[in-house]
Amino acid sequence: MTSVFDAISEPVARRVTSGLVRIGQVLRSRAWKGAAAQGVTPTQGHALDLLREAPDGLSLGEIAQHLGVSPPTASDTMKALVTKGLVSKQPGAAKRSIRLTLTPQGAALAERTRNWPDFLSDAVETLDPAEQAALLGSLIKLIRAMQMKGDIPVQAMCVTCSYFRANMHDDPQAPHHCALVNAPFTDHHLRLACPEHLQADPVLMEANWQRFTE
Ligand code: SF4
Repeated sequence: MTSVFDAISEPVARRVTSGLVRIGQVLRSRAWKGAAAQGVTPTQGHALDLLREAPDGLSLGEIAQHLGVSPPTASDTMKALVTKGLVSKQPGAAKRSIRLTLTPQGAALAERTRNWPDFLSDAVETLDPAEQAALLGSLIKLIRAMQMKGDIPVQAMCVTCSYFRANMHDDPQAPHHCALVNAPFTDHHLRLACPEHLQADPVLMEANWQRFTE
């Protein structure tokens, strides 16, 4: 059925994009306010949050991947945090490798800065569980589409992980499998930034994606 609105409405994709841009603007402004109040930039605050969830520390390459920034930007960010006494360098398991970990001051600051996006979580929680799961699925598809075009760095999502096995089980409550912990899981457990993520090779990634979107 046609509607008078067909002629006067912008395409859905453009209106969705406008909404996402709006949310992005609010996020950026809130992030600056929250992080600046704590004396760190938003990227530094994000790095502290990543390290808070990785008690064994992360390498510079892992931090760059999780932050979605280039290695030089990650390096500058971590140098600033080391200078501020919030992060320390530890020898890694491999020869000449370095792990970055939080100092006690960094851990305390990470606890204080972690709650700045709560206003957005509160809004997401107004959606019912099925809507939240659908939104998560849509975000995964959007992020992957941007990754495939090279618009953003590869994110540490289940759908790009070598441990992920999409729709491997018949159980509709837990169709996917994580080979790292050897356990099934469902759509609403899919991760967008997993510290244990290991990039899958392109063949496995594509096969998983085909099964995931079936
Ligand atoms: S290791 Fe993490 S990213 Fe990989 S499949 Fe398991 S939960 Fe997902």
